[in-house]
Amino acid sequence: MSPEIATEPDIAIGPDAAINPETGMRLQVLGASGSASGPHEPASCYLVTTPESTLVLDLGPGAFGALWAAVDPRRITAFLISHLHADHCLDLLAADVAAKYSTTAPWPRIPVYAPAHAAERLARAEDPDPGPPADPEWAFDFHPWRETVRLGDCLVRTAPTAHPTQTFAIRIEHAGRSLVYTADTGESAEVTELARGADLLLAEASFPDHPGLPTGLHLSGRQAGRMAAEAGVGRLVVTHVPPWGDVDAAVLEARAEFDGPVTAAAQERVHHLGQIV
Ligand SMILES: [Zn+2]
Ligand SMILES: [Zn+2]
Repeated sequence: MSPEIATEPDIAIGPDAAINPETGMRLQVLGASGSASGPHEPASCYLVTTPESTLVLDLGPGAFGALWAAVDPRRITAFLISHLHADHCLDLLAADVAAKYSTTAPWPRIPVYAPAHAAERLARAEDPDPGPPADPEWAFDFHPWRETVRLGDCLVRTAPTAHPTQTFAIRIEHAGRSLVYTADTGESAEVTELARGADLLLAEASFPDHPGLPTGLHLSGRQAGRMAAEAGVGRLVVTHVPPWGDVDAAVLEARAEFDGPVTAAAQERVHHLGQIV
């Protein structure tokens, strides 16, 4: 009998007794709040684990503590930073401090894949004094994004999104399973193409849908649902709804456009993509 393929969400956080450790991929939502951290939720951060890889998608304000609670940061294969807006990257400063000064320091240097100039941008945030920022001697190795990167047992592919600064949607493939994170984007043929056939689409849904939405900035729940339908994905998880937004409304908008399962990242914390043992 062939093993059942599981893409159902699971709110349990802990040992993965139900997933085949030889093949499984697991997405854990650590921060789903859009544009800023919220009263109950860090800003953008998603942990993707496979048998040999621990990948962190974005590290927004408040997220490093949640990450540290979920995994030993010294095991991280790489940070994958979609773009350099503050709500997606600023807790790299917290990770850098812990890597250099915590009781387990120094940590192994952690690769950071990010848009060009990430080190300079973060140095500006790190330095408290006016003038050109001092070199913080990062605990990271920065790498500019490429179209395709192999990290551990994962293949990572990117596509540019429709957003006011250089931003990359990210696709992670492992053992025949795939998930795609839109990052911040307006409607985008490139992002839709990157998402084609993915088992899970983690799509931003910042805006309540209404006529005359700005282009090249963010998606509404309805637009996220339309992207999921056009890309033919297996499941849609909406995220990046700001603290002042309505998560339930974003889910309902998406369900009006996409026939597959739709949930909210802020409510369903863990998703398994792999074979049940
Ligand atoms: Zn954002
Ligand atoms: Zn942004």
